[in-house]
Amino acid sequence: MSATYRVALRAALLYLLLSVIWLQFSGYLLNSFFDNSDEQLRWQLINGYVWVLFSAGLIFLARTQLLRCLGFGATLREHHADRERLRQAAAVFDCTREGVLVTDRKGVIVHVNRAFMQITGYQGEEVLGQEPRMFKSGHHPATFYQTMFEALQRSGEWSGEIWNRRKSGEIYPQWQTIRLIRDDHGELSHYVAVFSDISKIKDSEHELKYLAHHDPLTDLPNRLLFTDRAQQALASAQINKRGCALLLIDLDHFKMINDSLGHTIGDKLLKAVARRLKAMFGPGITLARLGGDEFAVLAENCPQLVQAAALAQRILDGLKEQFPIDGHQLFINASIGISLFPGDALSAEQLLRNADSALFKTKSAGRDGYALYTEELTAHAQQRVETAFELRRALEQHELRVYYQPVHDLKSCRLVGVEALVRWEHPQRGLVSPAEFIPIAERTGLIAEIDAWVMRHACEQMCQWQRAGLALSFVAVNVSSRLFARHELYQQVAQALHDTGLDPAYLELEVTESAVMDDPEVALEQMYRLRELGVRLAIDDFGTGYSSLLRLKRLPVQKLKIDQGFVAGLPWDEDDGAIVRVIIALAQSMGMQVHAEGIEQAEQAAFILEQGGDLGQGYWFGRPVPAGELDWTRVPTIPLTHP
Ligand code: C2E
Ligand code: MG
Ligand code: MG
Repeated sequence: MSATYRVALRAALLYLLLSVIWLQFSGYLLNSFFDNSDEQLRWQLINGYVWVLFSAGLIFLARTQLLRCLGFGATLREHHADRERLRQAAAVFDCTREGVLVTDRKGVIVHVNRAFMQITGYQGEEVLGQEPRMFKSGHHPATFYQTMFEALQRSGEWSGEIWNRRKSGEIYPQWQTIRLIRDDHGELSHYVAVFSDISKIKDSEHELKYLAHHDPLTDLPNRLLFTDRAQQALASAQINKRGCALLLIDLDHFKMINDSLGHTIGDKLLKAVARRLKAMFGPGITLARLGGDEFAVLAENCPQLVQAAALAQRILDGLKEQFPIDGHQLFINASIGISLFPGDALSAEQLLRNADSALFKTKSAGRDGYALYTEELTAHAQQRVETAFELRRALEQHELRVYYQPVHDLKSCRLVGVEALVRWEHPQRGLVSPAEFIPIAERTGLIAEIDAWVMRHACEQMCQWQRAGLALSFVAVNVSSRLFARHELYQQVAQALHDTGLDPAYLELEVTESAVMDDPEVALEQMYRLRELGVRLAIDDFGTGYSSLLRLKRLPVQKLKIDQGFVAGLPWDEDDGAIVRVIIALAQSMGMQVHAEGIEQAEQAAFILEQGGDLGQGYWFGRPVPAGELDWTRVPTIPLTHP
């Protein structure tokens, strides 16, 4: 029973008691004071009225009291319920796993919960009175926060992923909901942010992503990721006008290992192969396991088929070393199919398909090798790759030779200089022309070693001739256009001169016109540096490189060598004649010597001499020969048409 009803019951009992007492007492008084029954009746009526009035007063009083009591109870009940609700809210607020942060309308933090402290690492007192910007990670641009506040103002709520910083400095992702709180008048009073730490979810997302994109056995990218990366690489190659190569590698007879030694050893071999392949490649090459015993390689900067073929050869050679696994010494060969971008295909899928048909070709040709998507390319590349490998061996095995071709002064017809020309004495093929192997050496980078070797030999030889009293004005050495712009060239020349002791004035460097014109500013700087060393400079194959005359004027060059292509038609071809005349006039106007190469006939020598050329070189004067076979005494007579 509630307190209000107890009060009401007591009041009713009291009223009954009072009524009984009043009736008894008033009856006794009336009996004692009045004998007359009329008087008694009159007073009884008055007494009745008084009682009724008194009761009415009492009832009125009790009613208002009761209402008040009842009203007071409701308010009490409400207050009680409110307190209960608040207690529950506080418990939820404090026990929830989500961090809660409340700020006032100015953004000053006024409340945080326990989870907030656990997630952020801050204690309440460290953040109260501060602003939430203290948690900023720097991960988002200003526009991110701008959009967030715009959404808050517009709809009163914002939720999304946001990266904040813990007290430890670590940044982490939160899923956060921010809400505007308005007071009874609709005015903004608070902001409430509720957030959860989603770094763990992110980690597992990352893990899932990793699992979906990697092969669990070798940890290499799988087909999905490989295709994706290939697409990206092709897109970027297209923009940058680069070439890519895709190589499919299949291990030969891998099934035999699985069948004979079991899958555990098979798996270990696959892992070891993956490790070895991985160790072979640097950045710019993606390796993947597409499944079973099939691997794929994407070389992102592989413009030439010869480079792709060399890469394939490197892989084949690298896999040939034995694999020691669980006490077994395993050997495995591989077959490789190559497809090139953009030559063979423009999409990653097509590239993969082409590489697959090239792989099929390798397998049909007996495995343990590689094939390019098209057959002619395969043969061509194979030959070039073989040459590149052999060339390296040639350098190590001293198969290179330096031949010297005489250069004669056209007026006196005497031998005045020589050009050093490299030759390769191949054990099977005999003497190989530099026209065949220099371009390969340039592509594979071997040219630096070859040129350095020729230069040193030429300088040594010149010193020997000088010691023997054989006077020559110069020994000319060719410098590859690939090396011309490099800073090492200066050091290389200086070193060769220093080591051999040759006076720099006797060394002439021949640089092709195209090497100079490719990057004239760099060439100019390089030439001035070389001139500082005291060496002479000549422009080789002049007339083929579309030189700018203005630039030519600025070059510190002593000589122009007219390309043999213009000499060949002399003296009958009018065009060649005109060009040679112009070149000679031009060189003379710039104070340069004119040197004509490829002179095979006396008439050619006569034409050049009559036009004012200074030097001549060609089979008519003498072929390139080993140093010991140079004819020092030969003084040919040039038959002048207008003596
Ligand atoms: P180059 O510097 O223009 O050399 C002249 C080429 O013309 C030489 O060819 C020479 O043998 C050839 N030659 C000379 N006289 C005649 C002639 O009367 N008729 C014809 N048809 N040809 C003649 P080679 O020795 O085969 O060299 C070819 C090119 O290879 C050279 O052209 C040069 O650019 C390059 N080269 C040769 N040796 C070296 C070297 O040590 N380093 C570099 N970087 N390049 C070299
Ligand atoms: Mg030359
Ligand atoms: Mg030349």
